[in-house]
Amino acid sequence: MCENCFLGGVYRFRTWQDFDAFREELLSKPLCPVHRPSSEAACEQRQYYQCESCQEVWVLSEPENSWRGYFLPEDVADAYSRKLGKQDKFKRIGCLILLGLFVGFICLKWLV
Ligand SMILES: [Zn+2]
Repeated sequence: MCENCFLGGVYRFRTWQDFDAFREELLSKPLCPVHRPSSEAACEQRQYYQCESCQEVWVLSEPENSWRGYFLPEDVADAYSRKLGKQDKFKRIGCLILLGLFVGFICLKWLV
């Protein structure tokens, strides 16, 4: 991170207008697109940019539908992706538990 690229990342783009404004700023910075092998931490599409000044590698995940995207340094992006993946897993488990309780309740009502 440096003054020539960005001093902080973006954890989510709230609107398409935010993302468009960000993309304009990104294109005005001395960042070069770089190729990276796909990270096991990421389940989303990523684009990588390296700052010519500080060599920081930034990861851009574009927003799409309900996905809000992000723009973060590579190590932060990996940790963030892992965190989001864990949250999704807990949500799925929570839904299964609720579904199980609901089915159990219906079965009890039926039997009694
Ligand atoms: Zn930089």
